[in-house]
Amino acid sequence: MDNPLYCSSMDELVILMNMTYKCNIMCKFCGQRNLPVEVKKMSMDNELLYELCLPLYERAKMIWLNGGEAFCHPECFNYVQFLSSKYPRSTIKIQSNGLLFDSKWHNLAADNLIWIHISLNGSNESIYADTCWDREGAYAKIKQNLDSYIALLKERSLIVFAPSISMVINKDTAHDIEDFVLLALTGQYRACVFYFDSSEDDKTGYFRYPDALRPALLKLLKLERVLADKFSMFFRFRIPATELSLIEKEVEAMPMSKLIKEYAEISELAEKRSIKKEHEERERVRKAKGKKALSIDEESKTSLRQDKRDNKWVCSAPFNEIEISPDRTFGFCCLLQRPRFDMVQYIKDGSINWDEAYNNAALFEVRKDFLENRYHICLEGCPLKAANKQI
Ligand code: SF4
Ligand code: SF4
Repeated sequence: MDNPLYCSSMDELVILMNMTYKCNIMCKFCGQRNLPVEVKKMSMDNELLYELCLPLYERAKMIWLNGGEAFCHPECFNYVQFLSSKYPRSTIKIQSNGLLFDSKWHNLAADNLIWIHISLNGSNESIYADTCWDREGAYAKIKQNLDSYIALLKERSLIVFAPSISMVINKDTAHDIEDFVLLALTGQYRACVFYFDSSEDDKTGYFRYPDALRPALLKLLKLERVLADKFSMFFRFRIPATELSLIEKEVEAMPMSKLIKEYAEISELAEKRSIKKEHEERERVRKAKGKKALSIDEESKTSLRQDKRDNKWVCSAPFNEIEISPDRTFGFCCLLQRPRFDMVQYIKDGSINWDEAYNNAALFEVRKDFLENRYHICLEGCPLKAANKQI
């Protein structure tokens, strides 16, 4: 079909499954703390996992399991086995706090080149306890899970499939950025991600705690330049716009030699890394396993990507992403609460016509808006809303 608003084959689909809102830990900064109690107890049921969403899986490039804590879903292991055996061409990504990512999971993850992302939230035990979750032994257990998985990947010459790790930056954790990057490099992780705590954004373009957060942003921007093509570091999400534009100019003007000198250890550790070469190696292995190809962009920005459509760069979310929740609603972006669509209205004879559901009138409107450069429904702080550059 020629209509640019209609998504027919959806072969590029990224499916984001919010498996459960339950979680086995209690991060101090958890954004889900304020969810209503009945929502926090919700998990996907088997009909949703194995029947209603079934037509989507073969169309997926990536199936991303999220939570709460995905591993807390009692069906999670069986479900991942099912996806891996029936839909081996798709890449599975699992986002987790790492506590339950134990040896039971390691072979399954390595055999199927699953992308594991762990919200590690600290470069060491005491920072984790002070700023994230004060439970004795938790960090050590997560770290042990990660270390033994990395050892297994090395044994199998699959280290390029090492997990990525992330941390939340707020006034209490800002001092840990450099050590976290050092940990990511020494541990041979795939990438590291930093999320600014949205409760510390004053919503007028500035940080609520500039004394701690401006130096943190400055450091990230400097490290981004130092690591450039070597190691993937993502943090450009929900940064107050004015802060970013001011500090960005300052960093752009700094000579590279000065930055390399300032971050000599990190620069040295990253010397042998290459985002392009590691991506090519993953592609080689994925291809040998019959998996669909993933571009560097699809890997590094699973759901925050632009595609070129109608000769302009457009956020790809409403064209190739489906985000599904346990309450049987779906949306098209992991960041937007609205619009959401009720699956029930598309169920006929026990199954869903996804071509119809994913091409409903409201989604057409969103696609039209995006193609005409209108992002009014989107989050301030989404880098794609700010970018949507025209060619
Ligand atoms: S792991 Fe995620 S869902 Fe669980 S408490 Fe931490 S931030 Fe919240
Ligand atoms: S908030 Fe809008 S621009 Fe940003 S990723 Fe979501 S749909 Fe795209």
